[in-house]
Formats: sequence, C-alpha cells, structure tokens
Amino acid sequence: ITINNLSKVFRTEDVQTTALNGISLTINQGDFLSIMGPSGCGKSTLLNIVGLLDSPSGGSYMLLDKEMVGLKEKDRAEVRKHNIGFIFQNFNLIDELSVFDNIELPLIYNKVPSSDRRKKVEEIAEKLGIAHRLKHFPQQLSGGQQQRVAVARALVTDPKIILADEPTGNLDSKNGNEVMELLTDLHAKGATILMVTHSDYDASFSQRTIHMKDGVVFSEKNNQRNIDVF
Ligand code: ADP
Ligand code: ADP
Repeated sequence: ITINNLSKVFRTEDVQTTALNGISLTINQGDFLSIMGPSGCGKSTLLNIVGLLDSPSGGSYMLLDKEMVGLKEKDRAEVRKHNIGFIFQNFNLIDELSVFDNIELPLIYNKVPSSDRRKKVEEIAEKLGIAHRLKHFPQQLSGGQQQRVAVARALVTDPKIILADEPTGNLDSKNGNEVMELLTDLHAKGATILMVTHSDYDASFSQRTIHMKDGVVFSEKNNQRNIDVF
C-alpha cells in the first residue's frame, strides 16, 4: 500500500469537514500497523479508504501496484472482495443468519461454488474454535465468540489485507486478548494487518504504530515487544 498526500473532505449541507488532510504512508506486505489518535482524527476514514469502502477527495492510493483513486465503484468492489477482509468493533454479523451462513457470505459474493464453500467454512471455523457453533445464531454466542465468527468471515476468502477497526472495543480483556493473539498468529503467517485502536496494549502487538491528529499522521514508532513479559 502506498498512500500519497491523501485527503478527504466531507460536505454535508453547509458544513465541510476535513477528515484527512494530506496523509502519506507506505505499508509493506506482512506489516502489522496500528493507527491511534483521538476520536474524530480520521482513523476510520483512512481505514475505509484503504478498504475501498470510500474514496478520497485527493491524493493517490496505490494497492498492489495499481492506482485505486478514480476507480469506478464496480471495480473497487471487485478489488475489495478479492483482497480485503474487515473486522469491526461491533462484529457486524447478520443476526438472522446462522454462524455458518455469516461466514459463508463473502464466498457467495466471490462466486465460490457451493461444494467448495462448505469445506472452506468448516476449515476456518475449526481453526478459530467455533466449529461446534456453526448452527447457532450470533445472539446465542458470547461477545468473544461473535468476534471469532467475524474474524472467520474476514478470513474465509484468504484476503491479502486485514483491516480491523477497534476489534477488541466491545470485548472484555480475556476475549480481547484472544482476538489479539489471533491477529498476532495471522501476522506471523504473513498477513498484512491495519488496526485502528485506542488501546496501547493492543497496539503493542503490532510492529508499527502511527499516531494521527486532525487528519494527519504526526508520529510513528516501531514497537519492540517481548511476549515473555506478559
Ligand atoms: P475517527 O475514526 O478517528 O474517530 P473519523 O474518521 O470517523 O474519525 O472522522 C473524522 C472526521 O470526519 C470527524 O470530524 C467526523 O465527524 C467526520 N466524518 C466522518 N464521516 C463523515 C461523514 N460520512 N459525513 C460527514 N462527516 C464525517
Ligand atoms: P462471556 O462471559 O465470554 O461473554 P457469556 O456469559 O456471554 O460469555 O456466555 C457464556 C456461554 O454461554 C458461551 O459459551 C455462550 O455461547 C453461551 N451463551 C450465552 N448466551 C446464550 C444464549 N442466549 N443462548 C445460548 N448460549 C448462550
């Protein structure tokens, strides 16, 4: 990911908000980056643009050597569904669908044949320790289990990039820790991860932390973490 002088201005009636004010950032394959900063500083806007859910007002965003700025929504959706997995604070599961159906959804969007879908859903559910929950509905699960379902859904398509917006924000510390350990495992296996967080502890699992303020990146540090300390 190479981002250059990226800006985003939201216009609503007579109000104009500059959410991003010239961000430049390079994220290499296999990086695990945390994005921190006060509420309203533009973290989610940045993540949404990187995830191709939103488009910037100016600047350049190169993903896998291709310019994403100016792509039509149809083409953005195509790049998004093959390359990007999302994990949200409030899990964003569909309550009316079973755990199996929730995890299967991105495979249906990606037109994976049904015979392969079952196998993929079962494999990822097994890995995340929720295989015995596939027939349940989200509301029947604890918060930690719901987030594992959301992680399974994000991973079932083997995305190149995982975007996590406060993934532990609604979890107690035990379940939060489990999610962070999951992300750490994925990173160790080569995943590229961008995570928005308010937690210094969560950020300590990542390699790099950027701090944002008023739509710009004002500092970056590389984390040294000794897991034995915990
Ligand atoms: P953060 O994630 O750091 O809390 P956001 O990226 O959500 O910050 O928001 C950055 C700024 O952009 C805020 O001032 C917010 O109110 C504004 N903003 C975000 N989304 C919209 C929107 N859809 N319409 C108008 N303003 C928005
Ligand atoms: P936690 O303390 O991890 O948040 P909970 O107290 O919410 O967990 O749930 C404990 C266990 O009970 C979990 O295995 C969860 O799946 C199960 N459980 C919670 N609510 C329901 C429900 N409404 N129906 C079925 N199982 C439930």
